[in-house]
Amino acid sequence: MEHFGAAAAGDVRMCQTVLPAHANNRGELSAGQLFKWIDVTAYLAAEKHAGMSCATVSMDDIQFEEAARIGQIITIKAEVKRAFKTSMEVGIKVTVQEALLNAEKIVCIAYATYVAIPFGAAKIELEPVKILSTEDLLEHTLAAERRRIQVGYQQVFQNLVQQLAREDISEGEDAVSTSFTHVLNVELVQPLHANQHGNTFGGQIMAWIETVASVSARRICRSQPVLKSVSMFKFWGPSIVGDRLVFNAIVNNTFQNSVEVGVRVDAYNCEEWIKNQARHINSAFLVFNAVNDDGELLTLPRIRPTSEDAMRRYHGAVARRRIRLARKCLLSTIEDRPHTWDGSNQAYVNYSSIAVLANLAAKPGWELMTARDDVNIWTLEEGDVLSLRVGMKVNIPSHVAFYLLSDFTLRQGWDAHFITCDLLQALNNDEKIYYVTCPPVAGHKARDFVILVSQRQACKPSEPYIIAVKSVTLATMPPCLEYWRSEITCAGFHIYSDTNSSCMVYYFNEVTAGSMPYLAANLTGLSKSIEDTALQCKTFLEQKGSE
Ligand code: ADP
Repeated sequence: MEHFGAAAAGDVRMCQTVLPAHANNRGELSAGQLFKWIDVTAYLAAEKHAGMSCATVSMDDIQFEEAARIGQIITIKAEVKRAFKTSMEVGIKVTVQEALLNAEKIVCIAYATYVAIPFGAAKIELEPVKILSTEDLLEHTLAAERRRIQVGYQQVFQNLVQQLAREDISEGEDAVSTSFTHVLNVELVQPLHANQHGNTFGGQIMAWIETVASVSARRICRSQPVLKSVSMFKFWGPSIVGDRLVFNAIVNNTFQNSVEVGVRVDAYNCEEWIKNQARHINSAFLVFNAVNDDGELLTLPRIRPTSEDAMRRYHGAVARRRIRLARKCLLSTIEDRPHTWDGSNQAYVNYSSIAVLANLAAKPGWELMTARDDVNIWTLEEGDVLSLRVGMKVNIPSHVAFYLLSDFTLRQGWDAHFITCDLLQALNNDEKIYYVTCPPVAGHKARDFVILVSQRQACKPSEPYIIAVKSVTLATMPPCLEYWRSEITCAGFHIYSDTNSSCMVYYFNEVTAGSMPYLAANLTGLSKSIEDTALQCKTFLEQKGSE
């Protein structure tokens, strides 16, 4: 899917030829240079949208897919995906042209947050991003999800670290002590490192971080480290021309072929420098692979934490790795099978659930199957996957419909397919896991489901309230003999405000192989049975809503 089309009004593009001055000693574009270009391009996109000066707030996890070499041309496209009150999410895509194949390869995709800095004390509210296509709409929804992940990240991380601290650590004979990998560096911020207001470019700080981190990684790799990923980068405060930036880097942990280096950046002006009063600017965690001259992965020695802080960071690195892998596995493939629910991937399972529903809703090609009374049914055929969309007008306000539909324990009130529905876990107000049992159909066993329900309030009247449903695997709820464990890959509701006292409810369901026997048995009566359920739903909502 091309999210960065030429038609987008707010996008900014930068093309660069990779010259020797931009490359490392392997002849590949250095990550530090890439960070600078990414930041400048994204910064320009943010400024173009805001119409005023901006500053880098954070950069989400970045995964490097492909290296660009000297002589190749890279293209960086940046586009504001969503404007919140004063901050914006910018999507960045970096590609490299394969001259011989006349093809483009992705170097990395990143999302960054920039904040608008109004002149003086003026209060501002940014204009929303113009939505021109269904892809824009999808990205708009997902931007809010990414922000949720950012906000919830610290909690997920802390929980994991606490869990990990209870586990023993394994050191090999050849374990290297952490203190051996400590690297200290200082840089003076000069005008060429800063924007017109004297604020240091975020990309410049990222480039310095990468330099010092790779020196630290080299101590343990005993070869050339290759940067593979960077965990979320957050800027805690600004630094300006004249500041001294002190970089402390150390290896936090090693895994088979990779090493995590953490870097802490503190700023001092001349006076603070003498008094040793640091301003914490940034902390970053970079993962490098160790490769030999032939590009083969090398096995790294284990690490021996030599202080309490080092031990804490050792567990921190394991937690970040788990979160990164969970994210990778969920975001790179949208799989049919349910995701196992564990501490490290919760945020991404929710993201994936909201994303697949938004994706399904935005697809072109829905065909109207029946239109009767107040209920319309559409179908969408893609290969052997059949999806259903049911739309109906309900005479209660949208927020009431949202409240009633998102509580699945109320569903037996209108859906005959639900025999029992128990709340297993309420993770917070917006995310709950339920255990559902359904009646047997045509010679099959009764079915059961373990589902995650993620609900999202509408931010604006034009946006839908969202209730996304997806099966998850819970270690504490294995399948049992009595029931046939079934799966929901993508289902849920989008609820749009219509008038103050009415709304449009759309129900979506992607029909999977698992529910096929059930459907086949019902195919003739399918639209009738869906209509009946929808009408019961409408009656239920209107009755409950008026109580
Ligand atoms: P944390 O210690 O919780 O990881 P910090 O923001 O203090 O968070 O530091 C970020 C990373 O920077 C650490 O994980 C570590 O790798 C590195 N670091 C911090 N302080 C030092 C230091 N004094 N010497 C070497 N490395 C440091």
